[in-house]
Amino acid sequence: MNRPLTRAVLALGSNLGERNDTLAAAVADLVDRPEVRLTDVSPVIQTKAVGGPAGQPNFLNMVMGIETSLDPYELLEHCQKVEAKHLRVREVHWGPRTLDVDIVVYGDVVSDDPVLTIPHPRASQRAFVLYPWALMDPGAELGGESVSELAIKASDFADIEMFDGYESQPAGAV
Ligand code: ADP
Ligand code: MG
Repeated sequence: MNRPLTRAVLALGSNLGERNDTLAAAVADLVDRPEVRLTDVSPVIQTKAVGGPAGQPNFLNMVMGIETSLDPYELLEHCQKVEAKHLRVREVHWGPRTLDVDIVVYGDVVSDDPVLTIPHPRASQRAFVLYPWALMDPGAELGGESVSELAIKASDFADIEMFDGYESQPAGAV
């Protein structure tokens, strides 16, 4: 029996290598199975890395909207497989990574399981997630609050730039 489709928002980030190409390939990989359908993509933005070691390359971030029949844990596993395919570097917590894929929201599900916390516990304070989400879906709400208003209030809001797609050279060394 087919499970009903649930709308979810995924946040993608990259700060190592051919960041823009990685994001584009990851979007394609994430929807490359019949249980996942792409509904929206946001523009790509550039931000300074939040937390982690000093001096790491800037991040490119975006969000995408999907409809999926995968359950939340199946979706997490799928996201982690796509991260692994893009040779994610995991050694340093919050350090540089070729690709990070987080589940921001999954339907109306609320879960505090550390393996999969939904909504993503830090999304409501991260303009690099909230701002592209607001551009993709101006009416979006998170925890009953407007995503656009949350974006403006987030401490990293001032650090965000639009990204025009041009990379003069790969970021960092892969
Ligand atoms: P972060 O995304 O916080 O920089 P990681 O990508 O290394 O860090 O994620 C660490 C762990 O976070 C993952 O192994 C995963 O089990 C867990 N996790 C908890 N909630 C979520 C979520 N909503 N989306 C993705 N991963 C999550
Ligand atoms: Mg992650």
